[in-house]
Amino acid sequence: MILPMACRTRQTDVLIIGAGSAGCAVARRLVDKGDQSVLLVEAGGANRSWKVQIPAAAVRLAGDPEFDWCYQTGPDRSRANRVDQCYRGKGLGGSSSINGMVYVRGASGDFDRWALRGCSGWAWRDVEPVYRELEGNADCSNKKKDGIRVATRVVNRGHKTTKAFMESANVMGLATIEDYNAGEQEGLGFAQLTQRRGFRVSSSKAFLSPISRRRNFSISINTLVLKLVVVAGRVSGALILRDGEIEFIESQRTVLCAGAINTPQILMLSGIGNARELSKLGIEPVLDSPHIGRNLLEHPLVKLVYETNVETFNDAKRPLAAVRHLFEFLCFGEGPLAGVFQAVGFFKSRSELALPDLQLHFLPLALCPGNDGVLKISRRSGVSIYVNLSRPQSVGGVSLESPDPMKAPKIAYNLLENDADVEALVRGMEIIQAIMAQQPIAGLVRNELVPGCDVMALGQAAAVEMVRSSAEPAYHPIGTCAMGIGPSAVVDPRLKFRGLEDLWIADASIMPDLISGNTNAVCMMIGDRLGRWLAERC
Ligand SMILES: Cc1cc2nc3c(=O)[nH]c(=O)nc-3n(C[C@H](O)[C@H](O)[C@H](O)COP(=O)(O)OP(=O)(O)OC[C@H]3O[C@@H](n4cnc5c(N)ncnc54)[C@H](O)[C@@H]3O)c2cc1C
Repeated sequence: MILPMACRTRQTDVLIIGAGSAGCAVARRLVDKGDQSVLLVEAGGANRSWKVQIPAAAVRLAGDPEFDWCYQTGPDRSRANRVDQCYRGKGLGGSSSINGMVYVRGASGDFDRWALRGCSGWAWRDVEPVYRELEGNADCSNKKKDGIRVATRVVNRGHKTTKAFMESANVMGLATIEDYNAGEQEGLGFAQLTQRRGFRVSSSKAFLSPISRRRNFSISINTLVLKLVVVAGRVSGALILRDGEIEFIESQRTVLCAGAINTPQILMLSGIGNARELSKLGIEPVLDSPHIGRNLLEHPLVKLVYETNVETFNDAKRPLAAVRHLFEFLCFGEGPLAGVFQAVGFFKSRSELALPDLQLHFLPLALCPGNDGVLKISRRSGVSIYVNLSRPQSVGGVSLESPDPMKAPKIAYNLLENDADVEALVRGMEIIQAIMAQQPIAGLVRNELVPGCDVMALGQAAAVEMVRSSAEPAYHPIGTCAMGIGPSAVVDPRLKFRGLEDLWIADASIMPDLISGNTNAVCMMIGDRLGRWLAERC
């Protein structure tokens, strides 16, 4: 590897690339151990804006280049070549600074399945204590009361429509559960959120705030990692770009935490990936590792929207309501300013399934498609229910379009390639429509805005077509550098990169398959575990 002429060099014991959900957790464990220098490098800024702190402003973050990489997917051949936004958080906290804050650990069965796939040490009995140690939720009985880092809270003052929806779901056999994070998920409960007194708790707030002044720790923001430097089979650091200057960071150990899209991108830019494809782009192959970037998995999601005859969060800007909501936020950390997700549930598309295969989010807010097809806050009062498939079979991939690190990678979801995935979503919509037809929620609904037709009455072919044309990604991409023991595994179960020395990966890319739930909690847990393992070796 030839370094650019006159390139400045800095040294660190551990280099962590990406200060997102996982990267901040890795840093915290290593810095706490105290005997190694740790440098955390992040492409984005400090994310101190009020828009990051106040949950209601989250809608302004996605799509803003200050906070988001603003990627777009390629045309999806499984959905009539539809192109989607692929929001990815940028700046301290990464995607945990722009996400919806819904906190889900995943089902016990997800992690037991990982262990069965050869990822020893990742069964529920292994990861559940790690979650417990990370959390600080005084509301849920199974969690540590004094919690150390990631503050979570449960929605306490649910909106009238949220409570009515939960009652109607009960009538349809979907029971209310106190804590969907206890391992068994089936049922519906008030949402658990990564918040303290209604304010967002990103991974940088949770993990970095207490260590920001430690002598063995430095953070370099607005710093883009261009590529890894590989010498004689080991990663010896990375080339970074900061203030227009290229620098070489020389490290004993390097940890990639750039997320499911950027981690494979950085590897491929470094010549690590499918050698044939890299050569075609003019990148000199360093290691032929064809599985990097493959196995992109994502939760496909459909939305149902209803107009109500009672005020909802759509009315929050009316003068009297605004004062009430400000009071509710400041006094209780609740209400529309504290976010829109109020209930989360897990249910089965077919009763014979062993585990729920569908997840729902209930929002006392109607979002309707504008003329450009993008969902906007409706002027009418209403509610929305998002339904996503928990463990889809459709697989996509991330690859390079250009050897230029400033250019976006190519993201191909193939979100609904698998017919069974589509059928489960059709069934999910039918189940939600059946719940919405039950009292008491039916009494609060004026009419259905989206999809606006009886899915069951449509017939299977038309319902499948409708799901294919309306489904979208849930912003939970994973799996592009999957952990495992077989030939397709990119990292081993201790997250060490296979094929090069002194490189580890900890982020959403290492998940071998999708967990049943939103992916922030699992990324923090992954980062915490790698941080502990690396600290043990100090
Ligand atoms: C809009 C949105 C809503 C979501 N809602 C929820 C939710 O409600 N609940 C939930 O659990 N999950 C949610 N998620 C998903 C969840 O937030 C992510 O899965 C999780 O944060 C990913 O963590 P990560 O560590 O893999 O990557 P990230 O948190 O994305 O971190 C990667 C970091 O690496 C940095 N980086 C990338 N490339 C480079 C480079 N070349 N040089 C330097 N730095 C680089 C990035 O800027 C970023 O800070 C949501 C995601 C989005 C985008």
